Amino acid sequence: MALKLVTRAQWGARAYRTPNGATPYSGRRRGIKLHYLGTPYTDRTHARCDDYVRQIQAQHMDGNGWSDIGYSFAVCTHGYVYEGRGLRRRNSANGNTTLNNQDYAILLLVGSSGLTKPTEAQLDGARDAIDYVRREGPAGSWLGGHRDGYATACPGDAVYQWAKAGAPRPVSEEDDMPSKEELYDGVMRYDGKMLSPWGTPDNPTWMAESVIERTAQGVHTLEQAVPKLAGQVGALAAIVAKLAEGGGLTAAEIQAAAEAGARAALDRLGDALTEGN
Ligand SMILES: [Zn+2]
Ligand SMILES: [Zn+2]
Repeated sequence: MALKLVTRAQWGARAYRTPNGATPYSGRRRGIKLHYLGTPYTDRTHARCDDYVRQIQAQHMDGNGWSDIGYSFAVCTHGYVYEGRGLRRRNSANGNTTLNNQDYAILLLVGSSGLTKPTEAQLDGARDAIDYVRREGPAGSWLGGHRDGYATACPGDAVYQWAKAGAPRPVSEEDDMPSKEELYDGVMRYDGKMLSPWGTPDNPTWMAESVIERTAQGVHTLEQAVPKLAGQVGALAAIVAKLAEGGGLTAAEIQAAAEAGARAALDRLGDALTEGN
């Protein structure tokens, strides 16, 4: 995936305070520490993510008295990577100046309650951000969480385990293979617009949902009918054996007659089902 970077200008960042907000990194960092919000968080539409990042910045600047948003970058659940202090300025999120100087700080917008597990898009975006910071920062290969070397639950177990596994890119479903949910949504979107070809005289406006329901009922009915039929076939086999013992006809002859009858019955069943639809 290509990095989906949202620059400070694009998310409407406030200007950082100087001189502290301008403290530069000099040279290569050891690596990257991941963070989470540590507060309740619920997912939202991407249109509201800018707002949320501005809110974090305001909290850091006005609440904590910092010179800027603390993180180097922040990744929303839709995989967008928000530029915080960026590649060249020292972050203030890792706990103290030594730690801030040692590693970059990347926040994933997940909470300590509500949305606690990163989304696939978010892991993809975080992976992009890690690659970007390693390539352009540059950051060394060390990867961990805020909790490494500092007393905090951050970045939560889900993000921490992912970091310690080396931040693997999530394995997503084939792009051209819609999920069951997507298929269902696709069908339902047409409901109310598409006249089903299965409409009947008494119900000419069946919609897709009705057809699915009807099909499900049909399958259920057949499932119940099969054991009954199996029982009848067993009984029939016993009768065939008895008749053969009585003489006159061979078992094979009786069997052939029974099969012909069964086929006729199946044809009638088929007709009935067609009429029923
Ligand atoms: Zn943290
Ligand atoms: Zn978003």
